[in-house]
Amino acid sequence: GAMRHLPYFCRGEVVKGFGRGSQELGIPTANFSEQVVESFPSDVPTGIYYGWACVGNGDVHKMVLSIGWNPFYKNTKKSVETHIIHTFKEDFYGEILSIVITGYIRPEKNFDSVDALISAIQEDIEEAKRQLDLPEHLKLKEDNFFHLPEGKITNN
Ligand code: ADP
Ligand code: MG
Repeated sequence: GAMRHLPYFCRGEVVKGFGRGSQELGIPTANFSEQVVESFPSDVPTGIYYGWACVGNGDVHKMVLSIGWNPFYKNTKKSVETHIIHTFKEDFYGEILSIVITGYIRPEKNFDSVDALISAIQEDIEEAKRQLDLPEHLKLKEDNFFHLPEGKITNN
């Protein structure tokens, strides 16, 4: 399942999505380009994950990540979207986002309302914050990957 590929390292440019994260949900998600999405192994299960993220050569923050089709919005293209658990002063479209995915929370689900979707994401964020404080996840915050921006990525 999901754990087989973890930790999973990934780096790429932040591109424009549909703008729904911030506008409708109040939860911005930095979208990776189609090229990065297609570079994910095809057997990585869709769903909600957590890990660490860094924009450019900035600080490393906790994040929650969604991989999939976003059933609520009936997307037809797969997306990989990172919500960084940090308040940024400005958008960072075009910047390089580096992430390491360290854990899996749940599969994708559909929701009856936007409110139900928002509550589920808030719970995911709380779960991610708790899990990432555990030593096995915390140790990846210090990984060399975040300090070697030109370094080659090797995943299992
Ligand atoms: P889009 O559909 O273009 O991805 P969103 O509404 O999901 O639009 O907003 C995502 C954008 O918001 C990111 O690309 C980034 O530039 C900005 N942003 C600001 N704060 C954050 C954050 N904490 N996590 C992720 N993206 C953020
Ligand atoms: Mg987004």
